[in-house]
This record gives sequence, C-alpha cells and structure tokens, in this order.
Amino acid sequence: MMRRLGPGRIVIASHNRGKIPEIADLLGPYGIEPVSAVDLDLPEPEETGTTFIDNAQLKARMAADLSGLVAIADDSGLCVDALGGRPGIHSARWAERSVEVPPDAEPGEAKVERDFGYAMQRVHDAILAEPPEAGRNAHFVCALAVCWPEDGQCEVFEGRVDGLLVWPPRGDRGFGYDPMFQPIGYEQTFGEMDPAAKHEMSHRADAFRKLVAALIG
Ligand code: IMP
Repeated sequence: MMRRLGPGRIVIASHNRGKIPEIADLLGPYGIEPVSAVDLDLPEPEETGTTFIDNAQLKARMAADLSGLVAIADDSGLCVDALGGRPGIHSARWAERSVEVPPDAEPGEAKVERDFGYAMQRVHDAILAEPPEAGRNAHFVCALAVCWPEDGQCEVFEGRVDGLLVWPPRGDRGFGYDPMFQPIGYEQTFGEMDPAAKHEMSHRADAFRKLVAALIG
C-alpha cells in the first residue's frame, strides 16, 4: 500500500544547492516545507549503488534515518545508446579532471574540477569510436526516492526524456550535458531552450509528475 505524503517538513537529501530551490518550488504548493540536508549537517553518503534508483534511495534512506523526518533524494544522468547506457550513473564523474595544485595550496585542497565541455567531448569521442549505425540516441534519467523514518518504507519513481546528441554543442542556458542534447521533436538543444520549456519536459519533471500523482495528487 503506497503511503501518502502529507504537509509538513521534508528533508531534501542533496548537497547540490541548485537543486534545493527547484525541489522546494515543486513541493511548496502542496504544503510541504523543505529543509536541506546541508542545513541539518547531515553527511553525504557514498553513491555505491549500480542504478539511479539505488543511489537515490541510498541518499534518502540515510537522511530519513539520521533526521527522523521524511526525506527525498534524486539521482540523474545521461544514458547514451551507442555506449550501452554510459555515462549513466557516472555522468558527473565523466566531467572530472585533475588540476594543477598551486604550491601554496592548503593541504587537502581540491585536486579535481568538473568541466562539462570536457565531459561532452569524451561522450562525442566515445560515440565516434563506435560503428556509425550505433546512432546518436540518448536519454536523461531522473530517479526520485521518498523514504519515511519510522519503518524503512521507501517509494521510488523514475522519469526520462529522449533525444539526440548533436555536435558541436549549442547554447549556454542549461548545465551539464544540456548543450549537446536535443529532445526528440525539437530543433533546439536543452542548452538553447528557454529554461521554463526545458523544465516542463525534462526527466526531472517526468519523475516529479509521477511522484505527485502517486503520493500527493
Ligand atoms: P547528480 O544527479 O547530482 O548525481 O548529477 C548527475 C549528472 O548528470 C549531473 O552532474 C549532470 O552532468 C548530468 N545531468 C543530470 N540532469 C541533467 C540535465 O537536466 N541536463 C544536463 N545534465 C544533466
């Protein structure tokens, strides 16, 4: 039996500051009051799962157990058909490159940075290494998990949006792989599109619609 999500406080188990207002906007109209995992000083678990759902669930479970509140987490990425679904759950990792550490750096200062121009080039190069008939189809996936603290219950939802990968990348409005992703039926990439239009059709919107229909609506 699926449990309903009522008004009240909910932890957003994300350390990505950009996602918190986005999730808050989506849940606010239902009387759900978001609190961030950062504000509660919750640690960030290692994403050791092998699927988007596993990783979303891992993050929401930990936040619910530690806070005693209902928690929501997401995990997302780009899956390329020609690459057997890669980069998939490793989408953020494909953007990591090591950087020179200046001699006067503090100990422990970050030695990697994220560069999505580099990540898109890696995806493009990997596709070029495949036979041309492998094509350029791809989809973004967003998994959402809602976990309750008292009895270990979790509900999970998955959304997707299908598209083609273009080269060179176009547009500077989105983030991540947006400039190389052209959703099916559209002429513009996610990087060129009005952000409101992207947010209407994105994998995240799809997953949230499923969550709201099942738990709230
Ligand atoms: P995470 O869900 O925070 O682990 O991030 C997954 C990674 O997938 C992000 O760093 C982006 O590179 C990529 N990604 C997820 N959603 C989108 C999107 O809407 N546009 C572009 N890239 C995305």
